[in-house]
Amino acid sequence: MSFDAEITALQVDQSFIAGHWCVPVLDKGFDLFDPASETAVGRAHLCGITELDRAVQAAQAVLKNGWGRQDIANRLVYLDRLIEALDRNRLLLARSISAEVGSPIDFALAQQVGTAIGHLQATQAAAQTISQDRTPDPAKPTHRERYEPVGVAAMITPWNWPLNQIALKFGAALVAGCPMILKPSEYTPRTSVLFARCVQEIGLPHGTFNMLLGGAELGAAMSSYQGIDLVSFTGSTDVGRKISLAAAPDFKRCILELGGKSPNILFENCQVETAVQQGLAHCFRNAGQSCNAASLMLVQDGIYDQVLVLAKQDADQTRMGPPSENGSHLGPVISKAQYDRVQVLIQSGIDQGARLIAGGLGRADGFKQGFYVRPTVFADVTPDMRIAKEEIFGPVQSIMKFSHEKQAVDYVNSQDHGLAAYIQSSDDEQADRVSQQLNVGLIQINGTSRLPGAPFGGTRQSGIGRESGIWGIRAYQEVKSISGVARQV
Ligand code: NAD
Repeated sequence: MSFDAEITALQVDQSFIAGHWCVPVLDKGFDLFDPASETAVGRAHLCGITELDRAVQAAQAVLKNGWGRQDIANRLVYLDRLIEALDRNRLLLARSISAEVGSPIDFALAQQVGTAIGHLQATQAAAQTISQDRTPDPAKPTHRERYEPVGVAAMITPWNWPLNQIALKFGAALVAGCPMILKPSEYTPRTSVLFARCVQEIGLPHGTFNMLLGGAELGAAMSSYQGIDLVSFTGSTDVGRKISLAAAPDFKRCILELGGKSPNILFENCQVETAVQQGLAHCFRNAGQSCNAASLMLVQDGIYDQVLVLAKQDADQTRMGPPSENGSHLGPVISKAQYDRVQVLIQSGIDQGARLIAGGLGRADGFKQGFYVRPTVFADVTPDMRIAKEEIFGPVQSIMKFSHEKQAVDYVNSQDHGLAAYIQSSDDEQADRVSQQLNVGLIQINGTSRLPGAPFGGTRQSGIGRESGIWGIRAYQEVKSISGVARQV
C-alpha cells in the first residue's frame, strides 16, 4: 500500500514564523519513512537558533503590543475560526496522521482529529466561565485577582497523537494570551504544517503563533532560551527531565505531560468478559502508542485463569491492516526505532521469565514489510520485569496477579509513573474507595470515558501540571493579587 500521494506532496521545507513561511538558513534535514512500507517519503527541513531567535522576537513583540491585555472574548474569535478551519480539513488532517503515524484512517478521523477538535471546543466552553479579573469577596470589591499571561510559551509536542497534543496547548495559550512557539515532533511535520496552515487562515496578529519544524536539538535550545517564559512539553519522561533541568536556571514555568505505565485493575467481582475486551482494546489502541494505554493488567487471583483465556482469544483475533484501509484494525507502529524498541522489550519479557500467551517477536503475520508489531500478551509478569515497569509503546499487554485490594493499591502507588489507572469492579464502594487511594492523575471506572475539558495529567514521573479545560488555561496564566483603589484627590 503506497503512502498517501497528496500527503507526500505537502511541503515540509518551511516553517511558519511571524506570519510567513520561511526556509531555515541551515541545510539540516530529517528523513521521513512510511510506517506501512518502510519506504522513504521525503525530508523535513529543520530550524535552528536563527529561526528560534526570530520567532522569540516576533512573539515578544506581540506581547508588548498588548495581546495578553485584550479581553478574552477578542481572542476567542480566533478560536471559533480555528475550530471551523480544522473541521473543514478533518479528512486531510486524518489522512496525514494516518500516513505519518500509521493510525488506521477511521481511528485517525474519529479519534485523533475528533478529539483534537473536541479539546478546542472544551477550551472554548471553559473560557466562557472565567474572566481576567475576579473579586473573591463581593463585599470587598477593591480586592481583586487579576489573571495575566505568563509570557511567551514554547510548546514541544510528540508524534503519537500529533494534532491532539498541539490543540490542547494552542487553545489554552490562545485564551490565556500567551504568544506561542510550537515545535512539533520531527516525525509528524506534515500534520503540523497542515495545522499551521489552518492557523494562518484565521488571521492572528503576526508572531502570535510560530511553528518551527525541528528535532531534539531545537527543543533543547527552546527549553533554556532567553525570552521564553514557559515551556509546555508533552513527551517521554527522560526528555521531560532534561527540559525541567534546562528551564530551571531561569525559573521558566514548566508544564510536563510525560509517559505512563497505567494499571488496569480487574477485581474478581467485575464483568470479566467486558473488562478483558475493553482492557485489551485500550492497551492496543493506536498500536499501543498512547501515554495512558492500559498496558499493565492487574488481575485478582479468583479470575486470573479466566482472564488469561479471554485475553489470548482477543489478542489472537485482533486484526492488523494498512493505515489507509477503513476498519477498526491496528496499524504499524510509527518507525523502525519504535519497532526495534518494542522487540527489545518483548525479548526482555521472554528472558525474564514471563509467560508469552499471544503474539511475540517478529513482524505480524501476513506482512512482508512495515513496522507491524504482533498483538502480544504476557502472563505471570512480576514487578521486577522490564515489561512491568517500562512504557513499551507498542501493542503489548502485561498481566500480573494480585490477591487483595490493598496489595493492588500499594503496588500502583509504589510505581514510578502516575498517569492513569483503570478500575473494573461491580462494587461501587470498592471502586470509590480505590479511586481515592490511588495516587495518579486520571482514573476511569468500568470503562467510563472522561468528559471533554476534564483535567489531564499525571503524578510522579508522569509529569507536573494539567492540561484541558479550565486547568489548561490557568497553566498559562499568572495570578496577580490587587488590593485597594487609587486615592481620590
Ligand atoms: P520524546 O520525548 O522523544 O519527544 C517529544 C518531543 O520532544 C519531540 O518534539 C522531540 O523532538 C522533543 N525532544 C527530544 N529531545 C529533546 C530535548 N532534549 N529537549 C527538548 N525537546 C526534545 O517523545 P515521543 O517519542 O515523541 O512521544 C512519546 C512519548 O510521549 C511517550 O513517552 C508518551 O507517553 C508521551 N506522551 C505523553 C502524553 C501525556 O499527556 N502525558 C501524551 C502523549 C504522549
